[in-house]
Order: sequence, then C-alpha cells, then structure tokens
Amino acid sequence: MLGLVRTVGNGEATRIFGDLWVPGLEYRRLLPREGILDFKANVNCLFDVSGRWRMEVMQQILSAEEIATIMKLPHNARRCDDRWTWALTSHGGFTVKSTYHACHSSTPSLATDVEYSSVWQAVWKMNTLPITKLFMWRAGKDILPTAGALQKRGIDINDLCLLCGAEVETCFHALVGCEQVRSNHAMGLKKLGPILDGGSKDLGKEE
Ligand SMILES: [Zn+2]
Repeated sequence: MLGLVRTVGNGEATRIFGDLWVPGLEYRRLLPREGILDFKANVNCLFDVSGRWRMEVMQQILSAEEIATIMKLPHNARRCDDRWTWALTSHGGFTVKSTYHACHSSTPSLATDVEYSSVWQAVWKMNTLPITKLFMWRAGKDILPTAGALQKRGIDINDLCLLCGAEVETCFHALVGCEQVRSNHAMGLKKLGPILDGGSKDLGKEE
C-alpha cells in the first residue's frame, strides 16, 4: 500500500525479502534472489550481537546500491519491536496531505495515480454496507474522531492510544500501526479461517 513501510527495530518480525522495509528502493523492498539466506529469513539475521549490520553477509546477498540505501535508514533502537509506519511523513504518522502529494508526485519511487485510484475503486465496489465504505473513506481522509484529532481541535483529552499507550492515537495508528490492534486482527483472522475455508466465498465479492 502507498506509503506504508516497516520500521525495523529488533528485526525479528520483518522479512529481508518481500517486506516493505527499505523505502529508498524502487519497490520499497528487496526482491527475492538466490543466496546464503532463507527466503523467509528476518532482518535480525543481518545484525551482529550488538545490533550492527553484518556487512560480510549483506555483501554476499545484496547489491552495493541496496546496501547503501539500507545504511541510510535511521538506526532505531534494536530493543524495540518492528512496526508499521508511514514513509511519506517525517514523523511516521499518516496524513492525507502526504498521501495527496505522493499521488500527484512524478517521483517514480512513490506509488502511481493508477495504484492509488485502484484502491478507492476497490473500496467503492466492495460488497459491504455503505457505512463501512464511508468509514474507510473517512479513515483515508484522516477525519475520524481519534484522540489525537480531538486534542488537536482543543479538546482536553489524553491523546495516547487507549490500547497500547505507546503512541498518539491517529487514524493510522488506530487502524494499522498499533501492535495491539494488529494482534487482535490476527486473532480475528484465525477465527475467520474455518468459516472462509467452509465456502463463504461471497465475502468481499464485487457487486
Ligand atoms: Zn496503540
């Protein structure tokens, strides 16, 4: 998805190949290739015990350009978990403005208009309640009444996420970025698994 990247902390939950963790590269990811590491290996395989990049490993599997781009990534605390952030803003939070600029930018490393409009087309065509589509649209426009948004409007409220307490509750955090929310999503999907396998193929079907 446009702008979404993994910010690597301890590297334990981000795959070297496939996951979006190198925003400076054209596809924001390292494409799979033959090498000394398993395709499913996580980024922590590229760290030594003190959290520094293992250059001898990287030089065997990555190009000089890829290594140079990775070296430019901010050095995050290795004791933190990996998390999703929004690559189009300096603070890592989602804003509509950054999305708008990305969509209208000619920078080839950012998603094209085509990719973006196809997302909204898919949303409008979803076989779901209008109120759900409206919710998704409001989330995309960053106009949901999150604690962060309410505080910005002058309401005396704690703007931290009620679930994790670790970050300001923005639309992006509440729907995607919060580790707590993501583990709830994972649990929900697990429960839905047998139902989906049982033949409810109509879910999400286009009208
Ligand atoms: Zn949270």
